[in-house]
Parts: sequence; structure tokens; C-alpha cells
Amino acid sequence: MPRPIRARIDGSALRHNYGVAKHRAAGAKAWAVVKANGYGHGLLRVAGALGDLADGFALLDLEEAVALREAGINQPILLLEGFFDAADLAACAEYDLTPAVHRRDQLDMLRVGALPRRLPIYLKLNTGMNRLGFTPAQLPAVHKELAASTAVGQVTLMTHFADADGGRGVDWQLAHFSRIEQGWPAASSPAVSLANSAAILRHPHTARGWVRPGIMLYGGSPFAGEPASGLGLRPVMTLESRVLAVQEIAPGERVGYGGTFVARRPTRVGVVACGYADGYPRHAPGGTPILVDGARTATVGRVSMDMLACDLTDLPQCGVGSRVVLWGEGLPADEVAAAAGTISYELFCALAPRVPVQVGTPP
Ligand SMILES: *Cc1c(COP(=O)(O)O)cnc(C)c1O
Repeated sequence: MPRPIRARIDGSALRHNYGVAKHRAAGAKAWAVVKANGYGHGLLRVAGALGDLADGFALLDLEEAVALREAGINQPILLLEGFFDAADLAACAEYDLTPAVHRRDQLDMLRVGALPRRLPIYLKLNTGMNRLGFTPAQLPAVHKELAASTAVGQVTLMTHFADADGGRGVDWQLAHFSRIEQGWPAASSPAVSLANSAAILRHPHTARGWVRPGIMLYGGSPFAGEPASGLGLRPVMTLESRVLAVQEIAPGERVGYGGTFVARRPTRVGVVACGYADGYPRHAPGGTPILVDGARTATVGRVSMDMLACDLTDLPQCGVGSRVVLWGEGLPADEVAAAAGTISYELFCALAPRVPVQVGTPP
């Protein structure tokens, strides 16, 4: 029998969450952001669950984009970091992909490339995040190069917000973007793409053109301290396992490596088949919430490679075989992430390949 750990992926929750993004961004089209293996949920699994519902799929890797095409995905596919060499460019044409263009040498490749068809591109504008993209000062030259290229079709202006979930908000970046958009020489109103999940939910005036929801599709909240359920989102991934041993310990006894947990009372310790080699964060401290047979309790001691421990003292009905939810249905990943000093994005992406995945809703 395999270890009892598994991740359950709820396709109906994914479709529901995509619908929330579309509803919030009324009138806009929405790229389903499926980078990082669909935020750890499985690229083809996510694409399969969304199917024709998604207006398009956005990711990073050319190979992943090709895998989507070969799986029969016909919608537009956006490469968020664009192409890396001339061969990539040919593949973009062959597989009908939409690359981002964010730096000079990509423009050079577009100039020399003789392609069977003109590629739609996403021109990435750096409006203050200072990660990818051209600055406003570089744009006149960029525009000249694009206009001279026979490889370029429709240009969409794209930017990314650094703090849509935080105190600085988006308007300081939007001011730069709007100036660029209004001054764009080619068309009356160029196509645009600005909003990630946080912007869709908190700054709806940015949710036009093509929005780019990621974390919200997977039922994670982009906002610290604001539960996803309050945003109308449902968890997609449930990481579950079982209690595989119980230890009864006396006051003063300790649990796990380093003995970081010291029992203050007679304590029933449940040992769960889940550890950092499954993707559970090792840095999650004792006290991180965990669900055992539907009841909330807390982890104790250090997370080890294949196991972690939790306090069953007040749950006498629980024991060996009890069902444990590490995060997901009944226990928001955001809460577990917060306790571990991280964000749900990281928990999802870290799900280890050794964890079997099953598509379906919990019993
Ligand atoms: C990852 C990413 C997104 C999605 O962000 P979320 O916060 O997960 O919604 C959108 N746009 C770009 C460019 C990204 O890299």
C-alpha cells in the first residue's frame, strides 16, 4: 500500500474561481496563469479542468506551451518571459504562441527572423516594478523597431504591478502606463494587459483588456490576512494524509528532532505521514494549524523529511488512521502559509513530485 498522503485537485473549484475572475473583470478576457506547473497543481490537469472555459493560458516555458498545444489546447498561449533565442521564435510561429518582448536582443531577433506568419506580441513595459520590461524612455526606439519588423503582428501593451496587494497600490504605476498608452503611435487604442489577481480584486479599474489571474484560480488569497473564502474563492488543492502512529508522552518529554516541543501536560501526539520531502514547509513552526478528522489542532515540534507531529490531546476520538488535512478543504492554505511565514503560492508550487495527485472532490 502506498503512503496515505495525496493531493486532491478539485476541477470544479478551479472552474468556479476562473468564473469569479471573469465576473470581477467584467468585459475583459482572462489568461489562466498556469506557470510553475499550474502553481503546482499540474499543467495539463489545470488545462484539462478549465478546458474551453479559459480565454487563454499564460506560462513561461516553451516546452510547456508545446505540451498544451499537443494536448489539444487551441486557445491563445502567452509566454510571459518571451523567447530566449531564434529557434524559440520559430517555435512560437509554428505553435501559434504569443511571446512577451521585454528586452533589446529580442527585438533584434524579431528583425532578422523570417517567419511564416506575423506573431502577436506582448510588449512588456517596466512601470516601476523594475523586473522585466522597457522603460518609457526606451519606447520611441522600441516602437521604431517593431514597426520595421515583418515578424510582428498585433502589439499588446503589458505591465505588471509590484504592490497591487499592498499599501502603494497601483495608481503610481498606472500613471506611467496611461501616458504610454495614450502616446502609443500605432493605433487609436492599443490592446492592454495589466491586472494580476490582486489588481482584479482590489483595483477593478485596471481589469481591462486581458487580465492575468494566477493565485485566485487556485483558491489562494492574494491579500495577507484576507481569507480567500471572503473573496468568493474555493480551494482547489487539498493536501491530505493520515495519522500513522500515536505517542502518549508525560510532562517534560519532548517530540522530534532537536526536541523543540516540550509537553506541559500528559500529551497525545499524532504522527502524520507528511514531511518536507512532500512539500510541507520545514520552517512551519509548532503551532501551525492542521485538521484531524475535521477538527482543528496544531503541529508540535519540527517537521521532518517524511513525518510531522500534531497534538491530539483534546481529540480523543482521533488516532491511527485518522484523516489529516494539511491544507485545502476546511483549512485554508493561506492560514498554514501565514503560520509558516510564507504565502500560499509557495506551498502549492512546492508540492513534491512524490505525492500522488488525484482529481476529484473530497468525500
Ligand atoms: C505570475 C504572474 C501573474 C499572476 O499573478 P497572481 O498574483 O498569481 O495572480 C500575472 N502576470 C504575470 C506577468 C505573472 O508573472
